[in-house]
Amino acid sequence: MSEMRMSRRNLLKLAAAGAAAAPWLFGSRAWAAAKEFSLPKLPWPEDALAPLISKETISYHYGKHHAAYVKNLNMLVKGTPYASMSLEEIVKKAPAGTLFNNAAQDWNHTFYWNCLAPQAGGEPTGALAEAIEKSFGSFAKFKDKFTETAVKLFGSGWAWLVRNPDGSLAVLGLSNAGNPLTQGKTPLLTCDVWEHAYYIDYRNRRPDYVTAFWKLVDWKAVGER
Ligand code: FE
Repeated sequence: MSEMRMSRRNLLKLAAAGAAAAPWLFGSRAWAAAKEFSLPKLPWPEDALAPLISKETISYHYGKHHAAYVKNLNMLVKGTPYASMSLEEIVKKAPAGTLFNNAAQDWNHTFYWNCLAPQAGGEPTGALAEAIEKSFGSFAKFKDKFTETAVKLFGSGWAWLVRNPDGSLAVLGLSNAGNPLTQGKTPLLTCDVWEHAYYIDYRNRRPDYVTAFWKLVDWKAVGER
């Protein structure tokens, strides 16, 4: 492969390995051109989920917490081989620690926003409804299991509906920045149960927040996954 035809990814990998050896090739301009992760746009206005989730909660949760994870992620990948990876690759490959935590929290929050919608809730239809019935017995049983997982998860974390590699569905409770991709499972739905997701609206009443969450689940988006 000629240098002219070298892909940007390979160039960045080479840059990470050889920056010290060949500073003339990997100067600050080259690094400035490296990809930066940006805070993805919300799929709805900040006040769209009110009164179930207030504009103030979204403003802090998205504008402060999620934004901070993205900012930290950019600082942590700078000058490393991770700078050329997609967010999903970083989540799958980063060892436990600060980089994984910030990458996974960016991924998880983007996914969470896209699980929710105004005037949503209800029950899934079609193939998703059938898969839930097959794996859990009924939608009600799935909802009870997911609710219990979300409410009882100790400390901060995420409740997930996932698809296993064999096609069956499962509910998982993962602490802190946990993400099912690290277990080879496909995320379908998540509920953020960190206190910052509900403390402004519900104080310590996590069960009330989870009740509100069910009224906002965008089953159309979940089904498409
Ligand atoms: Fe959060």
